[in-house]
Amino acid sequence: MNIREEIEEIESKFLHPRACKNSDSEGRLKYEEKEDIRPPFQRDRDRIIHSKSFRRLKHKTQVFISPTGDHYRTRLTHTLEVSQIGRTIAMALKLNESLTEAIALGHDIGHTPFGHFGEAVLNELSEIGFKHYLHSLRVIDKLENNGKGLNLTLEVRDGIVKHSKGFGDIFKKSNMSKTLEGQIIRYSDIVAYVNHDLDDAIRAGMIKSEEIPPHLIKILGDSKRERINTMVRDLIFTTKKHDYDYIRMSEDIYSATIELRDFLIKRVYREEEHSAEKSKIFKILKELYEYLLENPKEYVEEFPEEDSLEKRVMDFIAGMTDRYALNLYKKLFLPEPWAKI
Ligand code: MG
Repeated sequence: MNIREEIEEIESKFLHPRACKNSDSEGRLKYEEKEDIRPPFQRDRDRIIHSKSFRRLKHKTQVFISPTGDHYRTRLTHTLEVSQIGRTIAMALKLNESLTEAIALGHDIGHTPFGHFGEAVLNELSEIGFKHYLHSLRVIDKLENNGKGLNLTLEVRDGIVKHSKGFGDIFKKSNMSKTLEGQIIRYSDIVAYVNHDLDDAIRAGMIKSEEIPPHLIKILGDSKRERINTMVRDLIFTTKKHDYDYIRMSEDIYSATIELRDFLIKRVYREEEHSAEKSKIFKILKELYEYLLENPKEYVEEFPEEDSLEKRVMDFIAGMTDRYALNLYKKLFLPEPWAKI
C-alpha cells in the first residue's frame, strides 16, 4: 500500500459518511494516473497555490481599490480568510478539509482587476458578457499552465463555479454545490466578507462602530472575532442538528447575517459604486480593451486558439492586477516625463 492509499484509508475511517472522500472523486476532465503520495484534492490545492493567477490575487481589489494601507484586504487575503473559515467548519464536521481548502483557494481566481467594478465593466464592454465565477473555471480549465489548464477534479471545479450567490439567497438549492465541502465555501465566503469588509469600512472611516445596528450586535456579537465565531459555530451545530442534509445556518443567525450584508450594501458597496473612481475605472478598462483589440500582438496570448480575439482580450484584461492595468494604461496613453537631468 502506498502513502496515498494509506491516507485514503484513514479518510474512510475518520470522515463522516456524507464527506466527499478522495476515493469518491469522479476524476479529472482529462485522465491522469493517481500519484503515490498526495491524494487528488491535495494535488488540486497545490496546483492552485502554484499557479500565476493565484499569486496575482495579491494585487487585486477586494472592496477598496489598490489599497496602499497595509491592513486593507485584497483578493488574496480574502481568499485566505475564506479558506481558514472553511477548514474550521470542515474539520469540525469531519468533512474533507483538503477539498474544502482547494475550492476556497480557487473560488475567486477568475476575479478581474478593481473588484466587482472591473467585473461590471467587462460585462458591459462586450456582448460576450463576463461573470467572475465562470471565468474562474475558464482560468483553471484553459488559461493557466500556458493554455493547458490545471486539470482539476470535477468536485473542485463544481465547488468553484457554484460558490457565487451575488446579493441573493445563499440557500438556493437549485444552484448548490453537489458536495457539502462546496456548500461550506459558499457560506465561508459570506462569513469572511461581511466581517472583513465591515472591519475595513470602519478602518477607512466609512462606518463608525456605533452605527452597526444594535440588534445585530446583540445576535452576532460586538467584535469581528465574536461575529465570525457566532456564524461558524452556528453553521457547525445547525448542520449537525439536521443530520448533514446540507450545510445550513439557523434562521436567526442567517437573517442577522443577511441584514448585516444589506447594511454593507447600503453603506459601503453602493457608496463605492457611485464614487468618482468607478467612471475612471470604466474609462481605463474601456480604452485598454479597444487598444488591445486593435493591437493584440504584443500583449494578447494566442491560446486558446479556438476563441475569438474579443474573448482573448477579455481574458487578458480579467487576468490583470489593479496595478498592472494602471501601469499599462500609463505606458500606452500617458506621455513619459523627461527624466534626464
Ligand atoms: Mg469570495
